[in-house]
Amino acid sequence: MAEKLALVGIGKIARDQHIPAISADPDWVLEAAVSRHAGVEGIDHFEDIDALLDNRPDISVVSLAIPPQPRFDYAAKALKAGKHVMLEKPPGQSLAECFALEAMAKEQGVSLFATWHSRYADTVPPLKAFLAERTLKSLKIIWKEDVRRWHPGQEWIWEPGGMGVFDPGINALSILTEILPYPVHLSGATLEFPENRATPIAADLKFADPTGAVMTAEFDWRQEGPQTWDIEIETDQGRARLSLGGERLEFDGAPAIQGANHEYANLYARMAELVKAGESDVDLSPMIHVCDAFSLGRRLMTDAFQF
Ligand code: NAP
Repeated sequence: MAEKLALVGIGKIARDQHIPAISADPDWVLEAAVSRHAGVEGIDHFEDIDALLDNRPDISVVSLAIPPQPRFDYAAKALKAGKHVMLEKPPGQSLAECFALEAMAKEQGVSLFATWHSRYADTVPPLKAFLAERTLKSLKIIWKEDVRRWHPGQEWIWEPGGMGVFDPGINALSILTEILPYPVHLSGATLEFPENRATPIAADLKFADPTGAVMTAEFDWRQEGPQTWDIEIETDQGRARLSLGGERLEFDGAPAIQGANHEYANLYARMAELVKAGESDVDLSPMIHVCDAFSLGRRLMTDAFQF
């Protein structure tokens, strides 16, 4: 039987991805929306999580598509009410929040899924398999986009906990931590902060790879014109290039996959599996790199940013 689900935060990603993915999946039925300003036609609407929990005890799963700053309180209330919880990326505004939610889910015997949508692109498993059989020589992430185009008016990304350019950058880090056959750690970073903002507009990262491969990431929110979401890889047996944020994969310059986007369909399929199995999936390795960048990063001040 389909699980009854409530979606919290009816903003950009809820409309672009969550609602279509839930509607197309027979394992789910969208029963309620929680939003301060918006509703979804044909289903119950509640202004906050307390009203949802009081009025719809029959709903078993809560999916949180709100920004990271308010997410902990919503997730904690849902978990304490015995709901299974799905978290948009990043799973929290700090690591300790995520550890606390993980412990709560365990105590309540419910499923917690810290989603990383970019990992669920069709290109990621073949890229992981490619790397598993080769020795990495270098890996370069270039994630450069125009913040005005992709985050118009989103003030929360510039507030503490909003992560700035790491909001898209963590998607690349979620792919990195999925495809590598071993863990790496950050060895240095430079972060550029607009003089009027609390979060960075650009970041350069260097990683220490235990095999000696050269590994870097460049994130920038000031790129106008063509947008770049690429990972370029060189190994002892050929090259790979992931582009368009994971939509296209090439091996040695030849297209391997240029696919449709199934990321959110795959995320909801995974959540259905977790609920059925009574398990959680909380991998915080992308968050650890971001937190380490804030810890190790040399801070530079740059021009003020206005939308
Ligand atoms: P958004 O449109 O700015 O916000 C989503 C919704 O969250 C808003 O419409 C708002 O709904 C609610 N909200 C905002 N601030 C809140 C607060 N302080 N308390 C309670 N609710 C609040 O953001 P988004 O782009 O959808 O991103 C949401 C999350 O999804 C982020 O973590 C982001 O990293 C992730 N994500 C975004 C994208 C993307 O392409 N945009 C892609 C993948 C993942 P109401 O005002 O109606 O309550």
